[in-house]
Amino acid sequence: MKETLALIAQASSIQASKGSVATYIPELAKADPEAFGLAVTECDGTQYLSGNCEFRFTLQSISKVVTLALALEERGKDNVFSAVGNSPTADPFNSIMRLEMDAPHRPHNPLINSGAIVVVSLLPEEGREGKIEAILDMARDLMANGDIKVNDRVYRSEKNTSDRNRSLAYFLRSVGSLKGDIEDILDVYFRQCSMEVNAKDLSILGATFACDGLNPITGKQVISPQTARIVRAIMTTCGMYDGSGEFAVNVGIPAKSGVGGGIMASVPGRMGIGVVSPPLDQRGNSVAGLAALAAISEQLHCRVL
Ligand code: GLU
Repeated sequence: MKETLALIAQASSIQASKGSVATYIPELAKADPEAFGLAVTECDGTQYLSGNCEFRFTLQSISKVVTLALALEERGKDNVFSAVGNSPTADPFNSIMRLEMDAPHRPHNPLINSGAIVVVSLLPEEGREGKIEAILDMARDLMANGDIKVNDRVYRSEKNTSDRNRSLAYFLRSVGSLKGDIEDILDVYFRQCSMEVNAKDLSILGATFACDGLNPITGKQVISPQTARIVRAIMTTCGMYDGSGEFAVNVGIPAKSGVGGGIMASVPGRMGIGVVSPPLDQRGNSVAGLAALAAISEQLHCRVL
């Protein structure tokens, strides 16, 4: 297993040169394009690390599954899915167009930006501090890492370049689909996206979802099996932006990517996989990360779809 993963890491990391690092958030543009880390955590707690698993990056869109899990636990499935849909979209993650065209004006799913912003608004905790602390606690429990924090530089950079996400939030409020203090909600969203992790953390996140909510490192049942299953289902249909269909066909594993270059994958009952390489393809998915997951799916027989 260790050798197979090392070979996969070597072959896929070369693919990074075909992508480019995200630049729309200035702080993300500084990421090392050559950094590559691959980690696997199995449901019995065994871990395999390859490449640079100390390299730190921000969760970005992957944070959306953490907050979704929290909202499902705290508010229940029916409340969450009456505020956001659960169907895939072929539009980019920050698209505004569809929100206005479709009625009711409800985000299509919780993993596009508009949907993730609505999910933050559903959290019952008071104020921005209460909400972000609850998200951080959930992230720390899911990843068995009490040190997970917000990267302040990335958070400020996101906040200073947030016209698009602000537009989504204010539009949603204008049509009655977003309630609460908008500035608090956006602030929490920028901070959740800026939580910093490494590939090992990401593999534990995937493993906890894979093990029906039981963290294989701490032995703690962090979320219910039902929440874990819902999150895996939404990752399957919506986790890889508008590349979700292609990923389901080619790789066949529930997964979620982020523009920081991370991809977290969850093989039910078996393992979580965390991979990071900052250069992205046109859709916002890590090029080398996609290559690594395709190889793992094939060589370790991980396809579940
Ligand atoms: N913070 C990013 C944004 O809202 C997250 C997007 C992503 O990773 O897809 O633009």
